[in-house]
Amino acid sequence: MTVFGCLICDTALTVPVSRVALPVHANQQYGNGPGPLAPALEPATFAVNPLPSGSPWRRWADLEPGEAEALGWYAPRFSISAGPAGQVLLAPGDVRGAAIDPALVDDSACCGLDGGEPNMVCLTCGTPVATRIDDCGLRQATWLNPLATHILEDDPGPYPVLDWADLIDQRPGIPPSQPNGDWHPIWKAAAASALAHMLAASGGDPVAIPDHQVAEVFRPTLDRLVGAPSTGQERTLVLAGPGIPHADGDLALIPEHPQTGELWPVTPPMTPVPLAWDAWRHLAFHRAPKPIGRSVPIPPDALPALLPNYRFEPDGEIFLNVLARLPQVKQPRLRAIYDRGRPYNYTLYNF
Ligand SMILES: [Zn+2]
Ligand SMILES: [Zn+2]
Repeated sequence: MTVFGCLICDTALTVPVSRVALPVHANQQYGNGPGPLAPALEPATFAVNPLPSGSPWRRWADLEPGEAEALGWYAPRFSISAGPAGQVLLAPGDVRGAAIDPALVDDSACCGLDGGEPNMVCLTCGTPVATRIDDCGLRQATWLNPLATHILEDDPGPYPVLDWADLIDQRPGIPPSQPNGDWHPIWKAAAASALAHMLAASGGDPVAIPDHQVAEVFRPTLDRLVGAPSTGQERTLVLAGPGIPHADGDLALIPEHPQTGELWPVTPPMTPVPLAWDAWRHLAFHRAPKPIGRSVPIPPDALPALLPNYRFEPDGEIFLNVLARLPQVKQPRLRAIYDRGRPYNYTLYNF
């Protein structure tokens, strides 16, 4: 378990927390209120963003040639963060010894805190130590500033890292739909990131998806993004991961370990396409029931739908953000897909 504290006065700023992988939905924006989204992390956990994040921001037009690529951006953005690397994400309820300082709250948010600048101070010494976010459509979060905080205690805790078999048993995943029939925001984020990796792995060539449940998630958006079948060589996408039989394919839709961020290993030339554990686990194990009493093959269209009836729109902003960090986006066909999407940040619907 890890306890974070103020760098200036060593006041403890968190309860004991265990490290998990930074989820792809950490900075998700979703909908237009009312209120914020659920916290990005479970209680008693933390995640570290290894990349520069938050303010200050630098406009793309002001970057020197080659500078963006050196920072891991391979396609244009409006601006990129020049903030500190190593910001620590927490569920807001796990913060202690710090409070929001109204003098530090900017007024650019809608009805809450949008986290533009650090807005929480250490109650002991007054140093700005964290940024609280709770504006409508944003994930509830507190981000510790790595320049003003540090680790006070770091012991092995009661939450060991689960192996893949234990994960299957203990972390059953998240169904794609919510009780109101809408898609779960975590699925929108997870599928958007996987889609960016899938396109990068395919080079823009057609992707065949024999598994009808996987196809239900990705096929409609892939078709919109890639357009009419090109003359390129078709690549086959298959599920791969713990507890399921091996399937031959070119691209492997694999799980990302939710605690360590480790990817399920695949053997080259198979190319991994990572998907968040909670979505992968559900997709891989919650098979729609097979119709009974049929001895003839059933066309995929006739199989019962696992997924909501709603047209699925993966998170466009996350898709573009992930794609811009993959070097393959420099390939002309992928860059064209990226450029088409930039005006439509929030949804892939209009592609
Ligand atoms: Zn609002
Ligand atoms: Zn302090």
